[in-house]
Amino acid sequence: MIIVQKYGGTSVADAERIKNVARRIKKARAECGKVVAVLSAQGDTTDDLKAKAFEISRNPSRRELDMLLATGEQQSAALMAMALHDLGESAVSLNAAQFGLHSTSNYGSARIKRIETERVNMELERGSIVLIAGFQGVNRYGDITTLGRGASDTTAVALAAVLGADRCEIYTDVDGVYTADPRLVPSARKIPRISYEEMLELSSLGAKVLHNRSVELANKYNVKLIVRSSMTEAEGTIVWEGAKMEKMLVSGIAVDDDVSRISIVGVKDEPGVAFKIFSCLAKEKISVDMILQSIGRSKTNDISFTVACDDLSRAIETLKENRDAISWDHIGSIDRIAKLSVIGAGMATNPGVASAVFEALYDVDVNIHMISTSEIRISVLIDVQDAKRAANSIHEKFSSLNVEYAG
Ligand code: ADP
Ligand code: ASP
Ligand code: MG
Repeated sequence: MIIVQKYGGTSVADAERIKNVARRIKKARAECGKVVAVLSAQGDTTDDLKAKAFEISRNPSRRELDMLLATGEQQSAALMAMALHDLGESAVSLNAAQFGLHSTSNYGSARIKRIETERVNMELERGSIVLIAGFQGVNRYGDITTLGRGASDTTAVALAAVLGADRCEIYTDVDGVYTADPRLVPSARKIPRISYEEMLELSSLGAKVLHNRSVELANKYNVKLIVRSSMTEAEGTIVWEGAKMEKMLVSGIAVDDDVSRISIVGVKDEPGVAFKIFSCLAKEKISVDMILQSIGRSKTNDISFTVACDDLSRAIETLKENRDAISWDHIGSIDRIAKLSVIGAGMATNPGVASAVFEALYDVDVNIHMISTSEIRISVLIDVQDAKRAANSIHEKFSSLNVEYAG
């Protein structure tokens, strides 16, 4: 039996933790036979490397940035191999170029195209534990790419899929998936089982406990995914097909504070304006999330939308370069704002949910900048400093509503 494990940054932050994880991997090897462990960079290494790059250049080359960031994971994999050797285990570390994780070329957010299994299988057959540097790929030019922040989870699930692993265990610094980030909402409850669909909504909307593409892949290839703590023996959360939480009105709350808002004020009120704005951003591969058009005065409109914080300056530059074509009066922006989302399959058939969310926000005096909804989700844009208060108030309201609903 093969199992794939993944250990996040906090779990391997220092020498003691690496040794602790090595003992867990050794135990898994004794119990399961073949173990592949995917490692993240230690602690804040990725952020520190990124900061280093920006000390050197305001606009570092994306290729070189990936070359630099990918080193964090390679360090962890090598250190873990050394720790396992000291425990008397046979272990080998491999980076993406060595075992063959082929990705698209877009640096910083490359996608996995294909994974070779020969080298990993050969090492497993030899009796070695295989330690994989997560988060990275190699593109068709043979250059190193990275797969997006938090993407070591995706490396792990993709490997579990191609190796036909029994399960993929994600070890992190919380002991499972909760109804909200337990650091933000202390009364959040652990969810023992969650469906791929609901987990995908939660992680796509900012619950970074799992990288959203890892959930997508797990669903597509039917990989049994388990989220657990690397520090305790507590049972984690199982993410799988069979667990439909149909009884739940609301399954979770997610907060994404990696959001910037741009407002383009005074664009013409005529056909084609939105197309011009969003096509020039799309050409630059800038993803836009929430969009709001408000009716302005004297035949002009204001269009506001959100982008990831890292894309803010590029987005504004692009809009300025295209000012003649788009024609606007001025551009305003907020560097960081929070998107709070309430997710639940029960919402589709219960019209009262939206008003309960707004009431919970009103109760704690939180102002809403933008609203967007889908069948199973409501998202509001609020100030970052209001996020904690808002999440707790909504969580409290739904804890009681869920009980009534399920009963
Ligand atoms: P790792 O380094 O192990 O990948 P991350 O920091 O990426 O860990 O993800 C774990 C963090 O996700 C937790 O520390 C927690 O603060 C946060 N988190 C956000 N939403 C949730 C949630 N719904 N359930 C559990 N943790 C969550
Ligand atoms: N080290 C990378 C990051 O911080 C990838 C990961 O941890 O999953 O984003
Ligand atoms: Mg993570």
